[in-house]
This record gives sequence, C-alpha cells and structure tokens, in this order.
Amino acid sequence: MSKKWQEECGVFGILDTSKTNSDISKLTYYGIFSLQHRGQASAGIVVNHDGQFLCHKAHGLVADVFDDLHLGTLTGHAAIGHVRTPAPNESGYDVVQPMQIKSHSGQIAISINGSILNANELRDSLKEIGAIFQTTADFEVLLSLIARNRVSTDTLEGAIQKMMGEIKGAYALLVMSEDRIIGVRDPLGLRPLVLGKKDDMYLLASENCAFDAIGAETIRDVLPGEIITITEEGYSSIYTVPECDAHKNGKLCIFEFVYLARPDSFIDGTSVYESRVQTGRALARECPCDADLVVAAPDSGIAAAIGYAQESGITYGQALLKNRYVGRTFIEGTQAAREMAVRLKFSVLKTAVKGKKIVIVDDSVVRGTTTKHIISFLREEGAKEVHLRVASPPVKYPCYYGVSASEAEMLPARSMSVEEIRDMLGADSLGYVSLEGLKASTEGALCGHCSACFDGIFPAGVPAEAGEASPHKI
Ligand code: SF4
Ligand code: MG
Repeated sequence: MSKKWQEECGVFGILDTSKTNSDISKLTYYGIFSLQHRGQASAGIVVNHDGQFLCHKAHGLVADVFDDLHLGTLTGHAAIGHVRTPAPNESGYDVVQPMQIKSHSGQIAISINGSILNANELRDSLKEIGAIFQTTADFEVLLSLIARNRVSTDTLEGAIQKMMGEIKGAYALLVMSEDRIIGVRDPLGLRPLVLGKKDDMYLLASENCAFDAIGAETIRDVLPGEIITITEEGYSSIYTVPECDAHKNGKLCIFEFVYLARPDSFIDGTSVYESRVQTGRALARECPCDADLVVAAPDSGIAAAIGYAQESGITYGQALLKNRYVGRTFIEGTQAAREMAVRLKFSVLKTAVKGKKIVIVDDSVVRGTTTKHIISFLREEGAKEVHLRVASPPVKYPCYYGVSASEAEMLPARSMSVEEIRDMLGADSLGYVSLEGLKASTEGALCGHCSACFDGIFPAGVPAEAGEASPHKI
C-alpha cells in the first residue's frame, strides 16, 4: 500500500522456428502487456525482419505506446520486447529499451531486467580503449562489451559468456542477433527468466504469466548462470555455473514472491499466489490478533490476507476498494495533497468496517505513507480497532539488484522500532512475519533466495558508490 518498490523491468522474447507466423509483434505486445506490472514508464519492441531490425519504443504504458499501425509494420520472425521503470539515475529517451546496435558481426538488440553494479567502471575502461557511448544506460555498456568480445570469440554466446565474467550484478537479459535470440540469467539467478513454447515458436519471459496470456506452455525456468539460445533449429543451452549447483546456490529475489511478480506466475518451481497464502498463514501463527474481520490492502495483500484468515479462522472480507483508473494526479507533494491522492485511489466500504475490529494485511511496508492514510480512513469510517499485519519483514536496506528503492535513510524500519512504526502509522498493533516464516512459504522452490533488503546480506555484492554505507558488504 505504501509507495512500492517497483520492479524496474520485464523482458519478453520470441522466435518462430518455422517463420510462418505473421503475428510476432502482436504476440510480443501481448507478452509485454502481461508484464506491465513490472514497469510502467516505457515500452518497446524490436523485430527481426529477415535480418533487418525494426523498432518502436516510447515512454508510456504498453497500450499507449503501440497501436495497430505500429504492430502492423513490425513484421518478422523473431522479436524482443521490454517494459521499464527507469532507475533513479536514468532518464530520457536514451534509456528506453530494447536498444540496438550494428556491430562488425551484424545487428544486435538487447533487453534487460536488472542492474549492473560495476557499469560505471566498465564504461570508463571501455572509453579508454576508444568505445563511444550514446546513452547513460547500463545496457549500452553490455552491448559494447558483447560487441568488443565478439571480435575475439567465435560465437555470440562466447562473447556473452565472456561478458558475464566481466559484469557484476543481477540480470535477466535477452539478446537478439540476426539468426537467434539468447536468454541469459545471472549466475545467482537473482532475476527470474522462463522458457516457453507455442506451436513452432520458442519464448523467453520474465514471468510465465506472459506465456499464459498468449496460450503458450511453460517449458521451464532458465537456470541461474544459464545461456539459452533459440534458433530455427530449436533451443540449446550453455551452463556457466555447473548445472547441479545452479539452483542449490541460486539467490532468486524473494521480493518477487512478496510483491513484484504477478500472483498467477510460477517462479523457480513455486506458485507466487500459493507462497503468498502460506506467508499469510505464517503471519497469523506468528502474530495472532483478536479481530472480527481480515481485510487485504488492495490488491497485493489479497493472497496473504486470505492465508491469514484461513489460519486464524477470522472472516475474510472486503473493506477497501481500489480505483483502477487513477492515472496521474495533478497535485503537489504536500501532506494534504498526498492524502488526496490516496483518497482518490482507495475508498472504504463504510458498512463493512463500522464498529469492527479489523486486521489489515499488507504484503510489505516500505515507507508506510499510504498505509498510514488508509488506517486513518478506516478509523474515520468507524472501525473500532485497526491492526496491521505485514506479510514480509521490515525493509531495512536498499536493493541494488534492479528494484528501485528509497535511500537507506528513507526506510523507517532502518532506524525505528516496530513500536515507533506502529505509532507513526496509527495502528492499534503491528506485526511482521519473520524472515524464516517468509522463506518457509516458498518451500519447494528450486532456488535459494536473496533477502538482502530484509537482512542486509547482498549475495552479489554492492556497487562501489554504496561503499561504506553498505551494511554487510560481502
Ligand atoms: Fe529482491 Fe530485496 Fe534482494 Fe533486491 S535486495 S533482489 S528486492 S530480495
Ligand atoms: Mg499492497
């Protein structure tokens, strides 16, 4: 409910092995449309039309960026697409993906979800040997590395593998060349990537909800450190991490299960919805509450609220409505204006809350601004008590792995006790699920997890700029 951590990107790729499907750009459109929750600032598609790359990309939502005309002209047998929320240091058209270049070995386009920690250092050293950059974006550094490495390697995969040895960070990456698309997941598998199939087409996407949307089947998750190549011959893969270790040592972002991913997706063998329900159950066991009604913070708290109700036996009901059509609000950043923005977005079902003791379940509380207003609205409408239960631990550390985050000092849980936060939010009581409880809810997952924003243990390290400020540099 608070201003969320926002996943920076979603990626989608498709290659038609039979070259007979004329709807590649439409399928890509539907694919990135289904990944819209991963980024709302810009969208783009590059198609491969017999070796000629055609691109359309712009700021805005997928449905606003593309119309029939664009999709009608973007014809080809392979494509990659992207949706994005820019990182704090990036702005302008330059950072809208996919990006393409002409290298000496042909055209290459790239789409990435994630963050490269040593991008600045790499950019500087590439400039020293004559590389020219047109943008400030991390992904241009990757394109430059691939193009440079391609000179000394026999294959595009070899150039990518070499690049993986040079970059540090979290990434799910799609690379399209004139005869293939390649999907890459970082060696720790921090960001998700899945492989799918529809008729003669193979697909790659950040989440398999994009496959469901177009009636494709999910083949499997791309493994941490895996490079998957799709050509007219089908797909093949290279494991840069020994296959048996890939999942065992994997560190998939646990925030995917908390909030980022769509509930109908499966990541690394676990249903996102089911894990949220289980977390809600753990929350009810760990932080019980004497109440009349369990309600969800719309919409991302719903699955955890259902789990909380199941485990506690307290009735689950609706008390808050979310206006889905709130776009931009033309208001300044004052306290009153922020409250107005929350009022436009959420409304209370008066009869449902009057005289009741309410437990409101939210997936996470990052800054808590919205949560605070919602609790006060519930009280204004006559709720007798409002108890807040949170289906993730307090967020204490910023994320360096591709999820925008407040600065560490902006995170209340960093410096305030649970009691102080309860007081700030105006709740009668406040309880967070433990990290153990959250992790146990993803049981059956093939991959271990990163939980750095909760525990400060950054499995892929932190960027040099974070230096001293970083809590547990490893
Ligand atoms: Fe995900 Fe948090 Fe790790 Fe970032 S720090 S990758 S949000 S678990
Ligand atoms: Mg929420």
